[in-house]
Amino acid sequence: MAPDGKNLGYDDTPIIPGTSWHVHDGNRPQPPVVTPGSCCDCCTDCGAGTPPADAVVLFGGESLDGWVSGDGSPAQWKVEAGAMEVMPGTGNIQTVAQLPDCQLHLEFCAPTVVKGESQGRGNSGVFLMGQYEIQVLDCHDNLTYPDGTTGAVYGQYPPLANACRKPGEWQTYDILWEGPRFEGASCVKPAYVTVLLNGIVLHHHVELMGNTSHRVLTEYVPHAPEGPLMLQDHGDLVRFRNIWYRPLKGYDEG
Ligand code: MG
Repeated sequence: MAPDGKNLGYDDTPIIPGTSWHVHDGNRPQPPVVTPGSCCDCCTDCGAGTPPADAVVLFGGESLDGWVSGDGSPAQWKVEAGAMEVMPGTGNIQTVAQLPDCQLHLEFCAPTVVKGESQGRGNSGVFLMGQYEIQVLDCHDNLTYPDGTTGAVYGQYPPLANACRKPGEWQTYDILWEGPRFEGASCVKPAYVTVLLNGIVLHHHVELMGNTSHRVLTEYVPHAPEGPLMLQDHGDLVRFRNIWYRPLKGYDEG
């Protein structure tokens, strides 16, 4: 019902299965207003922006507060000019926060100095729940095995496109993540992921076969429904910035 008492929709239409709402029901809860983030004004394609108003910010460019190494000690990566940079040899870092199913945004930048090839060029990784990797790699003019390409669900699905920008240019990942669910030792709902790189769809709601592994077939290992976001130290000077998420909610959850 609108503030002036008008019915915004219909109450003589069928009930939508699985809900208590009519088709076009004017009384159905309105979606919450969320102010979108803005793009930066330094250029047109750097991908920088500010988080939406309701985002949970994991890295805002100032410090690694809230990030730890695998052993729980403070993260050792470098923070400079609003970005974090892998400090080779210090290991992967992960959030203390445990993320639910979510919309995740982050930006990354492959090293400006190009060195190495295939998996050895600008390698890092975005590990959802600490164990499901969306590959970070510099695949601009750099071939590697397709299921290890930038944006691959590593070892499972090559991306639908190579949407890489040049090394030294900031790139965006937008990821929709639905983690798996377990009952005892069995997986009762697999994980699903949708990934966009620089606004280009790489995966559209693909079903994961299990956690990330190397050179072997994967399988699920039971875990909690929430988990940390982990970033990989693969020895390359990859930078990250503007990392935030929004929990995925169902319709009418507000
Ligand atoms: Mg990697």
